[in-house]
Amino acid sequence: MSVDQPQALAATIIFGGTFDPVHYGHLRAAAELRDLLEVADFRLLPAGHPPHRNSTQADGRHRLKMLRLALAMHPDLGLDDREIRRAGPSYMVDTLSELREQFGQRALVLALGQDAANGLDRWHQWQRLFELAHLVVMTRPESERRYTGRLAEIVAANEARQTDQLWRQPAGLILHLPVTQLAISSTDIRNQIQAGTDPRFLLPDAVLEYIRLRGLYKHALTTRNSV
Ligand code: ATP
Ligand code: MG
Repeated sequence: MSVDQPQALAATIIFGGTFDPVHYGHLRAAAELRDLLEVADFRLLPAGHPPHRNSTQADGRHRLKMLRLALAMHPDLGLDDREIRRAGPSYMVDTLSELREQFGQRALVLALGQDAANGLDRWHQWQRLFELAHLVVMTRPESERRYTGRLAEIVAANEARQTDQLWRQPAGLILHLPVTQLAISSTDIRNQIQAGTDPRFLLPDAVLEYIRLRGLYKHALTTRNSV
């Protein structure tokens, strides 16, 4: 065991998303990331009321319930429901501030797919995110890195090459890690349900059963594939 491991175990990883609904693309990426980073405290954190997209289709309590169903047999992948519980628009910067207050100097990591990371400079007070947490960007061979302007400069100046670097300071580094990204999206699943086709095997059966039981996603509000 390396000397860095005890610190890694004391860190917290946040895997954020709308999870509308959660699918095997998210779950596989989360599992690989948890194993790569060897962190005990790994949390999927569903966005409460995302300000950066038109709207979610299923409300917070349904998205949370679907995550609970998906993770029921996987206690090493935790769930953080603070944004769903909070009223009003949810900004990641507020969420990370709360966690930072709670954890003091412990390393905090926000995990994002490359698609989400490319548009990070559109997030509310995005530069503050680097004061509060490290960023781990999940890449895949075919995913394009498209940082521009100030974001490209910040990434260039703060890029970490190895996981161990993250445990030596509480925040501020950006690490790119290759993680399997299955060609599955919530948008496609919602569209399939609306079109009356069966999206089985793209998401856990228990989640699909819940969607059917509650009649979710029958009437699409948006069809755009947004991050
Ligand atoms: P939508 O189509 O509604 O945008 P989505 O499938 O992209 O949904 P999100 O909730 O937007 O899911 O994604 C949450 C996080 O998971 C993001 O960081 C995103 O990059 C990542 N992610 C989404 N789909 C996959 C996938 N198939 N494999 C790995 N990571 C994914
Ligand atoms: Mg998305």
